Amino acid sequence: MPAADVTLPDLALSASVLDRRGDLRADPGLLPRLLADPATMVLRLVGDRVAVEGPHDGPLRAVLTAPEPADAGRLALYLGEVGGIAHVGVVADDLADAVEGDPAWRTLRQVGADLDDLGASAFATTLALANWHRTHGYCPRCGAETAPVLAGWIRRCPADGSEHYPRTDMAVIMAVVDADDRILLARGKGFRGNGMSVLAGFVEPGETLAAAVTREVAEEVGVEVTDVTYLGDQPWPFPSSLMLGFTATALGTELRLQAEEIEAARWFSRDELVAALADGSVVVSGRISISRRIIEHWFGGSLDSPEIPLR
Ligand SMILES: [Zn+2]
Repeated sequence: MPAADVTLPDLALSASVLDRRGDLRADPGLLPRLLADPATMVLRLVGDRVAVEGPHDGPLRAVLTAPEPADAGRLALYLGEVGGIAHVGVVADDLADAVEGDPAWRTLRQVGADLDDLGASAFATTLALANWHRTHGYCPRCGAETAPVLAGWIRRCPADGSEHYPRTDMAVIMAVVDADDRILLARGKGFRGNGMSVLAGFVEPGETLAAAVTREVAEEVGVEVTDVTYLGDQPWPFPSSLMLGFTATALGTELRLQAEEIEAARWFSRDELVAALADGSVVVSGRISISRRIIEHWFGGSLDSPEIPLR
């Protein structure tokens, strides 16, 4: 599918290469049939890792294999098809001991920026769905144990028939830029080392995206913003977010930090940020994240900064 016309295209984890074929999910025979067909491509998730292959410095691929007999007893998730070939995500946590310490098994945070589009999309979708299944095993209405149906895309309660859909938690993430074209970076509680990032926060019920941006900036640093402009969005299955990127213009520069959430914040000119990255007093997050892409969009080019996760 062609990318939407957005300011930040080609974000990691965002390619739509799988035709999800939602029309096939209602067939209860779909997964058993696909898991008995050697032409099916299976992505196995163990904990939060999948096996990857490829050159050290080139694009990586996720390891996709034919189904194995044990897959029939595992949680299976129909991902869709590519070129007419069915792809299924399988949660194989029973293999945890077997893959422990094997360097081929990597987390999405580690390899997401280097995976090809199919691998990144299949990994992100499988991880997001698996995270939801793992924590939503019981009916919120009556407490009965629910079961996956619709090829892994919903859970149904056998006691009252209610259906429960996987959740996606919307979070806004925004560059705040002042009248002198400086960007605001902050260090949240729990960031590692000298990590700094643009501000972010979850959208609340009954709130628009622009209102969430305005509220989060006001709460976290006490700055009023205007001209909230959408940049692009990125699935972020840690465990179940969709990051919606924005830029906004600050109406003032005085900072009043929310002590429980923000450890430090300051305005950076481009020269100041280059100097801070060079001397290590500031580290920004890796290429996988929309956070870095938003900062680079403001900066006007790619930043030279070590690849370490902020948290
Ligand atoms: Zn129930």
